[in-house]
Amino acid sequence: MIYRTLGNTGIQAGVIGIGTEHLDGQTYEVIEQVIGAADAAGINMMDLFMPGEEVRRHIGRALKGRRQRFHIQGAIGSVDLREQYDISRDLDTCKRYFEALLRALDTDYIDFGMFFFMDTEEALQQVLQNGIADYAHRLKQEGVIRHVGATSHNPLIARKMVEMGLLETLMFSINPAFDMNPAAATLDNMLVEMGDHRLEGVDPDRAALYLLCEQRGIGITSMKTLGAGKLLSSEHTPFDQPLTSAQCIHYALSRPAVASVMLGYSTAEQVADACRYLTLSEEERDYAAVVRGQGGLMKGACVYCNHCQPCPVEIDIASVHRYLDIARLNPQEVPPSVRQHYNSLAARGADCISCGHCEQRCPFGVPVIENMADAAEIFGA
Ligand code: SF4
Ligand code: SF4
Repeated sequence: MIYRTLGNTGIQAGVIGIGTEHLDGQTYEVIEQVIGAADAAGINMMDLFMPGEEVRRHIGRALKGRRQRFHIQGAIGSVDLREQYDISRDLDTCKRYFEALLRALDTDYIDFGMFFFMDTEEALQQVLQNGIADYAHRLKQEGVIRHVGATSHNPLIARKMVEMGLLETLMFSINPAFDMNPAAATLDNMLVEMGDHRLEGVDPDRAALYLLCEQRGIGITSMKTLGAGKLLSSEHTPFDQPLTSAQCIHYALSRPAVASVMLGYSTAEQVADACRYLTLSEEERDYAAVVRGQGGLMKGACVYCNHCQPCPVEIDIASVHRYLDIARLNPQEVPPSVRQHYNSLAARGADCISCGHCEQRCPFGVPVIENMADAAEIFGA
């Protein structure tokens, strides 16, 4: 497993995580096999939003002896009232389901208490006004929640939560098709429209959210990384050809601030398949060839794909661009952590010899030489 630091939490998160949705309705034996395979592979990030008592209890049983090795995202507000999965913004209901999660897992803490499905202004106001945000922060003070986070599919609401200082971590739906959809689209619309060839270039609100999170030390975990499987299907992909799961994983992991992708599995073989990403070469992970069909719309903006490598002086061009993009948000006040990350690169903008090799290879027309000079000026190296 490859581990990345999840923002300011300091947690070393496996880049491949486990979203447990596909375990819903499975027997204990199946759940134990999947969680056992995940544990053996070094997976240590788990998202558990399902409110169902049975699946929670099975997962809790499978975690016996393994609990300390997993960092669990537990939803606040995910409920199954009227026997249907639903969302509640009622404080007492949220409390009841969160306490039931602790009991079902037979644990006295949840690593991340996640405000669930925060996609609208109304949801945000309800979480604030109904005492749910206070409840989560109180649990944090008591040590029941280690970190407060949220799940969201809407970059504007997510951004607002980050700017308010409400979160320490964010679970966000990330894939190249969503990144090219309008900011206000709902999750359902995003999934439906995915096949409509209505891609509009990388949405600036989504790009800005990732940069803001990296700037503020808010680690992101990615969901919907495979676009509910549509990106892998030649019938449903909005691109000229389907992506592989490794390309989708790599795309999400190449966004600023992203530490882990949460994938769903219902068999141990699927866990092994996802982890094969770790053994693949950069060429096999490279998604640029597929998403460059939208290159005209994305022209000039670095998508951190690494297609431009190798650089003769070994500049990590994608990383320089990631830090440069954050610095450009406010060049007068570059966060010290970003400056530190930039300075720790083995080669930096000032090392560029203007050979132009990268610009010939970049499918997105990024003016790399100019950007290297900009980075050298802003960071002084
Ligand atoms: S400069 Fe171009 S090829 Fe290199 S990482 Fe950025 S988008 Fe990809
Ligand atoms: S132009 Fe600069 S960044 Fe690009 S390959 Fe050459 S030395 Fe590396």
